[in-house]
Amino acid sequence: MPNDIHHASAIVWLVALQFLLYATGWLLTSLLLRPERKAALCWAGFMACVGAGFLLTAQRGEPRSWLAFNGSGIAFMAGLTLLWAGLADFYGRSALRREMLITATMLASAIGAFGPDLETAPWRVLVTYAGNMWLTARIVSSLYEPIRADYGRRVAWLIASPAVVLAAAFAVPIARQLTQMDQPLELHRLDDIALRSLAVFFIAAALFNFAFMAMVTHRLLGRLRHLSERDALTGLYNRRAVERDLQREWRRWVRRRERFAVLVLDLDHFKRINDTLGHPAGDEVLAQVAQRLAAQARDVDVVARIGGEEFLLLLPGTSRDGALRVGERLLAQLREQPLNAAGSAHTVTVSIGATQVEAGDADTAAVLARADRALYRAKADGRDRVVFLP
Ligand code: GH3
Ligand code: MG
Ligand code: MG
Repeated sequence: MPNDIHHASAIVWLVALQFLLYATGWLLTSLLLRPERKAALCWAGFMACVGAGFLLTAQRGEPRSWLAFNGSGIAFMAGLTLLWAGLADFYGRSALRREMLITATMLASAIGAFGPDLETAPWRVLVTYAGNMWLTARIVSSLYEPIRADYGRRVAWLIASPAVVLAAAFAVPIARQLTQMDQPLELHRLDDIALRSLAVFFIAAALFNFAFMAMVTHRLLGRLRHLSERDALTGLYNRRAVERDLQREWRRWVRRRERFAVLVLDLDHFKRINDTLGHPAGDEVLAQVAQRLAAQARDVDVVARIGGEEFLLLLPGTSRDGALRVGERLLAQLREQPLNAAGSAHTVTVSIGATQVEAGDADTAAVLARADRALYRAKADGRDRVVFLP
């Protein structure tokens, strides 16, 4: 029997070691992550608590100590609560904090209330597994929605899978314990259930680790993509991004003859605004014009700032009439609703060059050149107007 106990604790030690290694990894990672530092620290805490729980489990023996039996259960539960807290922080769900605190306190009191003795052990085991199962299920159900919004359903399930595996795995010992309440189903005994549970924890630890890394990487990539394709002042797409989208529309035109229209806008006498109100006020005007443009756009339209005070609207599936309508609507709105800059109202007008893709165009540059000629014409004809060139 002592030999069995030794083998059992060797396996438990190994699982503990794995969790503690991951804990160290996330602790170090947290030093590199700025906005996600709190989440990374919570995940390090999650791994550390579970690791500590297994270390305590490995200490189990005779006489039965409260720390090795009840303390380990509380450590597991605390770990799962930290996992929950980290995920809630990562997805900005601070409203869950109260529920997490109440759940953790209740479960810790319940697990701690039973003594370490053999008679009440089956109940302690039941409460511990059921509590952890509840926690895991709540982690998935409370955070599935924001994760799905971030990655779509398929990836969300992939990320949730370690927690789902874990929740399902808790059901097995619960069922087994319920059928034989005369004998506690404790992890440190090397029975088949304990071994299977340890294997599940081993696998789940790795899956959690990969899920965290995937989430952080996805978030960083999203941030990088945003930075590389957005204009800092207005938040609109920049020239690089709109050129990519123009190419996409061009391919659609070549393949399926789906038309697109382009509007190029330039603010009228913008130098005067800068000269009279100052450069910062000019920036305010630019940001507000950008807002108006974005508000006019449909979901499929692309609105970009392609130069200092020049904007581009790419309208997929649109031809002459649609382009002119959008242009006129914008001019009317700017004329009728003044902008606010330097604390007062100012009417700003724009000139718009419009065109659509034509059969003779060799590439997107030909379309853009025609839109520029149309803009030049609009300026020459007196500004505050839209000119379409076929
Ligand atoms: P026009 O009607 O012929 O377009 O006259 P304009 O004064 O607008 O002339 P133009 O388009 O050549 O002038 C562009 C001016 O826009 C020059 C530059 O000082 C200003 N500008 C460019 N980028 C920015 C910016 O980011 N912020 C501010 N405040 N001004 C800018
Ligand atoms: Mg200009
Ligand atoms: Mg201008």
